[in-house]
Amino acid sequence: MKILLMGPPGAGKGSQSEKLVRDFDLTSISTGEMFREANRNNEPLGVEAMKFINKGELVSDEITNEIVRKRLLKPDAERCFLLDGYPRTVEQAKALDEMLDEMKSKLTAVINIVVDKQAILERMVGRRVCKSCGSSYHLSFKPPKVNGQCDRCGGELYQREDDQLESVKNRLEIYESKTKPIIDYYAGRGILRNVNGMQSFSEVYEDIKKALGEVA
Ligand code: ADP
Ligand code: ADP
Ligand code: ZN
Repeated sequence: MKILLMGPPGAGKGSQSEKLVRDFDLTSISTGEMFREANRNNEPLGVEAMKFINKGELVSDEITNEIVRKRLLKPDAERCFLLDGYPRTVEQAKALDEMLDEMKSKLTAVINIVVDKQAILERMVGRRVCKSCGSSYHLSFKPPKVNGQCDRCGGELYQREDDQLESVKNRLEIYESKTKPIIDYYAGRGILRNVNGMQSFSEVYEDIKKALGEVA
């Protein structure tokens, strides 16, 4: 299975992909997480990317396509993967098609999680992320068992700088203008499914599984 998980920032892509990756044994490829990890490790690429990310801007297509290309060429991505947060522009979607063509591969499903703007804002403002493993929590909707501490690894939870209101507004505008058009790009292929993200974590998950069953 080669799955692409789409949706506005805060839609629940990361939360759903954590579970999908475990249940279906997929290789998780999250460009946002790759940039944050490179920054945690003080890699120049990560430090540079963070300047854009913190302001809520996109990292350049050139840099982003290159890290995805390298990642897709690793053996663990050959059979099945889940892409979360990529592609985010039509240029990236075209670049991904070229990469997959070269690898004689193609996408199985494009899942688009649909949520309204109010929910996006609530979800992003209350989001807390583990510094060590990247797991995401929410102050009200998914609180950790111990305040400020990751259930899975005990790591420290923090609020992403780009989850501050100013960056959030910027990211939503960019989503509308640059990322949403990708939905039309995939619409004609018969592998795109919209999933109602305005439900509980487990209801969204069940709907994603149903959608995967239809196309996979
Ligand atoms: P979100 O929770 O908003 O979906 P992500 O963790 O996917 O956030 O991405 C965080 C930030 O990393 C984005 O706002 C953007 O700055 C950068 N980023 C992630 N993926 C891409 C991409 N495919 N192209 C350009 N920038 C990206
Ligand atoms: P994305 O990767 O799309 O930006 P996340 O998975 O990080 O989104 O979710 C954003 C925030 O919303 C997190 O704090 C998460 O715990 C919360 N969240 C995700 N899905 C739901 C849901 N179905 N109901 C309530 N809160 C949710
Ligand atoms: Zn953790």
